[in-house]
Amino acid sequence: MPAPSGTTRVAAVIGDPISHSLSPVIFNAAFESAGLDWVFVAHQVPAGETVRALDGVRAMGVAGLSVTMPHKDAAFAAVDEVTLEARALGAVNCVENRGGHLVGHNTDGAGLVAALAAEGVPVDGQRCVVLGAGGAARSVIAALARAGSEVTVVNRTADRARAAAALAGERGRVGEQADVASASIVVNATSVGMGGEGLVVPADLLSPAQAVVDLVYHPVATPLLTAARARGARAIDGVGMLVHQGALAFRLWTGVEPPIEVMNGAARAALGERERAV
Ligand code: NAP
Repeated sequence: MPAPSGTTRVAAVIGDPISHSLSPVIFNAAFESAGLDWVFVAHQVPAGETVRALDGVRAMGVAGLSVTMPHKDAAFAAVDEVTLEARALGAVNCVENRGGHLVGHNTDGAGLVAALAAEGVPVDGQRCVVLGAGGAARSVIAALARAGSEVTVVNRTADRARAAAALAGERGRVGEQADVASASIVVNATSVGMGGEGLVVPADLLSPAQAVVDLVYHPVATPLLTAARARGARAIDGVGMLVHQGALAFRLWTGVEPPIEVMNGAARAALGERERAV
């Protein structure tokens, strides 16, 4: 990649913590592959500083911004315009800078649907179970319903399950773990799997006709995916969603078709290095 110059465009991510973010690796590989004079950097911005950070984006002409915890809700309130997807969720994870007018998007759920499409898994007319009701689950529930799936939400805290299922409108309902057995697509959107906990659902609910997706991508091979493979199910890791939501942001910011295979390779290489270092 040539050294940044006076014409280099800047894209960034804000969050806290942020040093673990894979976004710089994924986006810088994509900019280089596409021959774009762009650079991507990560900024640690503490909670409460979202509005000032977005003012900085306007003032400095930062061309595109990714937004991660704890800023997704505050960014929703601080941008100038939001998409329908972001409005439904009340959260923004991607900001497009149109000459100082900031448009807030939420690309997480669409990233999962794109990742499933890339794996040849149809979503329209499917029975999905989403485990979890946090930020990631909410975006996935809304996107799966928009894409034509019936969505059953299973979550430890019942109130949050009800609120999340409502995002799917008539296609959403609250269910229980046993519903996993009759789903064609099972999505783990809880954080279970990151820290050596047990399985988020009993393995005997998984079967060969299913696609099982784990949004947890560190480790890439989670206990759920290992169990899914052992039961003959199709196991799909969380790297695809990460890459595809990044690809949506890349296209929004640059207007250029994203080099998805390059982004995927960069993410997997960085995760592999991280896992070897543990
Ligand atoms: P979050 O808002 O904190 O939500 C966490 C969810 O996990 C809640 O539904 C919570 O249930 C549930 N949970 C936590 N511990 C649990 C346990 N021991 N047993 C059962 N349920 C438990 O987190 P998030 O932002 O949605 O992220 C969830 C996961 O998705 C994280 O691992 C994150 O890294 C991953 N993620 C991946 C991508 C990707 O691109 N692949 C994108 C976004 C997020 P309660 O409601 O009962 O507390």
